[in-house]
Amino acid sequence: MRGILSAFPAAPNWLACVLVAALYCASAWLGSRLLMLELGMDSVVWPQPGLALAAMLLLGRRIWPGVLLGALLAEGWQWSALIDGLGWLLPACGVALGVLAQTLLGAWLVRRHIGRGNPLDSFSHCLLFFVIVVAMTLLGTLIAVASLYLSGQLPQKQLVAEGCLRWLSSGCGVLLFGSMLLIFHRHRWPRVGREIWYEMLAYFGMVTLLTASIFVWWHPTLDTTYPLDMLVLPLVAWAAFRFTPREVVLALLLIMTLALWGTRHGGGPYLGYSAYSTLIIVQTYIGILTVVSLCVGALMSEQLRIKQELDRQQELLEQQVRIRTLALEQSHAEVLALSRVDPVTGIANRRCFEESLDGEWRRARRLGAPLGMLMIDIDYFKLYNDHYGHVSGDYCLREVAQAIRSSVRRPQDLVARYGGEEIICLLPDTTEDGVACVGEAVLEAVRDLQLPHVGSAISAIVTISVGGASVLPRETPDSRQLVEAADRQLYRAKQQGRNRMEIAGDQPDPSTG
Ligand code: GH3
Ligand code: MG
Ligand code: MG
Repeated sequence: MRGILSAFPAAPNWLACVLVAALYCASAWLGSRLLMLELGMDSVVWPQPGLALAAMLLLGRRIWPGVLLGALLAEGWQWSALIDGLGWLLPACGVALGVLAQTLLGAWLVRRHIGRGNPLDSFSHCLLFFVIVVAMTLLGTLIAVASLYLSGQLPQKQLVAEGCLRWLSSGCGVLLFGSMLLIFHRHRWPRVGREIWYEMLAYFGMVTLLTASIFVWWHPTLDTTYPLDMLVLPLVAWAAFRFTPREVVLALLLIMTLALWGTRHGGGPYLGYSAYSTLIIVQTYIGILTVVSLCVGALMSEQLRIKQELDRQQELLEQQVRIRTLALEQSHAEVLALSRVDPVTGIANRRCFEESLDGEWRRARRLGAPLGMLMIDIDYFKLYNDHYGHVSGDYCLREVAQAIRSSVRRPQDLVARYGGEEIICLLPDTTEDGVACVGEAVLEAVRDLQLPHVGSAISAIVTISVGGASVLPRETPDSRQLVEAADRQLYRAKQQGRNRMEIAGDQPDPSTG
């Protein structure tokens, strides 16, 4: 019920109404003066019903008084020239009411069955639009013909002939001009390359040449009226396949104008018929051409939209894959970094140390450089745990590890947790003097922490023992010998009383072989 009510006129928008009325009159004048065939009868294609429907679809139902006013003025002007006195009022009002009724019906049907999108954007909507045009112009024609008959302007025997002519004229008008306005309003001008502009230029040149050849320059005799008018169909299909519906409509307008002009001046294949038959043939020709080409155009733009949507989806998918891959790479790098860090102390773990030792050993071997090492152990740490508890023990271990790390300054140096509370420093390119230097710095850094240790037998604060060694890997068969040398020196430091450093030279211990 609401749907039907919405077909009725709404409150008017006066400025738009005046504009629409003026445009309606102008297009009626254009239709009768410029484009149309005058063979003692009416015009072939009326642009004004197309304009009325497009205006109502684009501006809304509020412009209905504009349509009525425009139709009244145009029809009044036409009929007052033919009938004396006030006799023109009834036919003019009847035809104008027919125009208003068909426009309201057409706009309502389009809104209800097609919606607010462009009716010529998809094939199914396009077909529906054509059916609506047929229905709405049939209603307008019936009202117009009935009012002409009742006002005595149309004899009964001409009812059908006049009806057909009016129906085709307004139908073709809505199809061609209504479509054109809707397409031009909704289609944005896309950025096209220079080649497409050249192709368009060539295309419209060919359309002009071919249509003019068929309808203007060709003057057949009755024996040679071949159906050459169909030759333009491939050209219209070309526009539909290569360009947009806008170029299709422009090509149709060009073809229609040349066909009408040529036929009016005695050219083209539609000669030898009565004026009425010529009108019907030209109308049918234009109507068929419009329907076919707009359908093909709609099909092509539908296909283009689907392709663009698919491309967009694919682009979106690829973007998502790129984002996911990046996130995966990041989390992989994080996992890798975490797998090389000791969680209690925050320094490198044993695994990381083993990998680094292997790499640095081979590098030092290649370069003939020394490789230094410090093995560090916290003194009386078992007693520390016993006294302060394991949580404080962990805290202490972390503080000592960080202090050691901050006193090892070269970027290639590595500080790692070797075992329980043993920390190891790998010092590439470092002789025993250098190892001694770093060892002193490490001892000093831990002392500076001033962490109380009441359980220690040698000091009131936490202290460490350090064993240092440096070897030339080129002259040493195995990297384990370096670790063992440093470990031995640590043992010695413990034996010597702790809280100190012992250093070995680059001579491996003879006892290890
Ligand atoms: P020394 O001076 O001879 O080195 O005596 P010590 O008590 O430190 O002996 P050792 O080096 O063998 O000590 C090992 C102790 O270190 C055993 C354990 O209580 C402690 N420990 C090992 N790993 C951890 C840890 O991750 N957290 C804590 N809180 N304690 C640890
Ligand atoms: Mg210890
Ligand atoms: Mg230990």
